[in-house]
Amino acid sequence: MKATWLLNTNQSGEHRCAYCGHPCDDTRPAQIKKTWSDWPGLADASAVYRCQGCERAMNERMDMPGRDKPQKVRNYSWLIESGGEMTPATKGQIPAIREWAVEPPEPPYALCIATSGQKQLLYRTPVCLDANNCVLTLEAEIINYVPGELYNALIVADRISAASGKVCLSEPVGVMMASRIMDYYSDGESLVDSWSAIQPTPLGRLVAFLALPKEKAAEKHAGDIIKRDVPAKAGGAGRSGPGQEQSLWVQTAGD
Ligand SMILES: [Zn+2]
Repeated sequence: MKATWLLNTNQSGEHRCAYCGHPCDDTRPAQIKKTWSDWPGLADASAVYRCQGCERAMNERMDMPGRDKPQKVRNYSWLIESGGEMTPATKGQIPAIREWAVEPPEPPYALCIATSGQKQLLYRTPVCLDANNCVLTLEAEIINYVPGELYNALIVADRISAASGKVCLSEPVGVMMASRIMDYYSDGESLVDSWSAIQPTPLGRLVAFLALPKEKAAEKHAGDIIKRDVPAKAGGAGRSGPGQEQSLWVQTAGD
């Protein structure tokens, strides 16, 4: 069952939706554009109709409270609840998305996180049916997770972000990053081990997106940070690339 099911008020018909595969009638042509690139994601590329849910999910001119102009559904992340209520979040509202992921509403619901705004995502976002084994989509990836494990992984990722910056969460832990984390925390070695295990997994990609930015993470975990021998300049390197942070470290690596 896909998120579009929750957006359907008419969930019957003799046809099958080309996008999500749910039953539909013959009132809505599928309208698969020539520029469509996600052929493998279609439920049935030969089907000629689409469902009401997919029509809503692909709306490029949605009226949205607080916005003057019609909005494209694909430009937002969405929480869709069982009654079909749609709550949007922009890329700037990661804290809200994080809360949805860690403490989701009662199933059934669907959570779709858009990072590019380029693709139609809702038509293949699965509906979460089990509060203990959740599912969401992060752009085109379907991620299954246990909320308690996500909560713990976020603590690890936030602490890494506080030391090395959020951008570093998207890369494997290198020697310089590990050394920096060990200088930041008395339990740095086990923190590096924990993060190295999480980082390459789907959960790792999810927390890399949801983690706090460097300064917020440092505030939250200020009590843990020991900052042993950390160069003064490194404290302001939150938004800089990993290459730059590494070069800061090369200067003091012999300490
Ligand atoms: Zn559909």
